[in-house]
Amino acid sequence: MPELPEVETIRRQLEPVLSGKRIEQLKVIDPKWGSPIAASELAGIIEGRTIERLDRRGKYLIFDLGEECFLICHLRMTGNFLYGAGADVLYQRAVFELEDGQALRFTDPRRFGTAELVFGGDALDQYFAARLGIEPLAGALDGTALKSMTAGKRTSIKAFLLDQRAVAGIGNIYADEALFRAEVHPLRAAGRLTPAQYDLLAAAIQEALQAGLDAGGATIDDFRHPDGRYGSFQDEFLVHRRAGEPCPRCGNEVEKIVVAGRGTYLCGRCQTRPRGALKRRAAPRAPRSGQRL
Ligand SMILES: [Zn+2]
Repeated sequence: MPELPEVETIRRQLEPVLSGKRIEQLKVIDPKWGSPIAASELAGIIEGRTIERLDRRGKYLIFDLGEECFLICHLRMTGNFLYGAGADVLYQRAVFELEDGQALRFTDPRRFGTAELVFGGDALDQYFAARLGIEPLAGALDGTALKSMTAGKRTSIKAFLLDQRAVAGIGNIYADEALFRAEVHPLRAAGRLTPAQYDLLAAAIQEALQAGLDAGGATIDDFRHPDGRYGSFQDEFLVHRRAGEPCPRCGNEVEKIVVAGRGTYLCGRCQTRPRGALKRRAAPRAPRSGQRL
């Protein structure tokens, strides 16, 4: 699933080519995309409007269509916005025909991506206040903020990082990469890090996201740039998807476990396992192959 760096990469490429352009026609090919608004109603509202700007919050893209009208899009698993692609590109769910003859095509093989209309700046703020926490690259994320948000929480720090209502935009890739950089085990209770670990983790989140942005995001499934190119951050992963390979810091074998229902990669030597988790893991004597979930 595209995370903050992937969505921001899309925004940065599209903003200069879309802003100021009028949408002549919106073809909603898959009505589920804008549900519950009917396809014809959605087209009726959007056609003729000008894309004033393209913003991002967490993993959401926000088309500011002027006069307090906002189209909020989430790519979910496999959504992509392609600009300048041919009309025969596969899995199209919506097409924005622009005044200059160009088209912006939303493709989405798994069809989980969504589009929602919101009217008014206050309604937009409320929409995100209910769904998203701190924007990690906007400067408000530090060790003190992490410490206060996790106070008393016994959930794992990995599950906490995946919760968009705490820190927005982090998914499975950047949670693993940030925890490795901060040398914090993903199973550690979110509320039980040391002050120094919260500081390290806040910096590590920002470093991992920035590295992802610098590489144009990671393409491990369907993610591509609006011009069809792939991101390259998958070639720079420190531990994510690197089970069995040497830890780039100590050489120990990177392992894969399941945390919060997600495949999670870590170095067991650099990221010390919390005591409770040690017991849980040692209880069933799973066969060797079973340990590499
Ligand atoms: Zn290591």
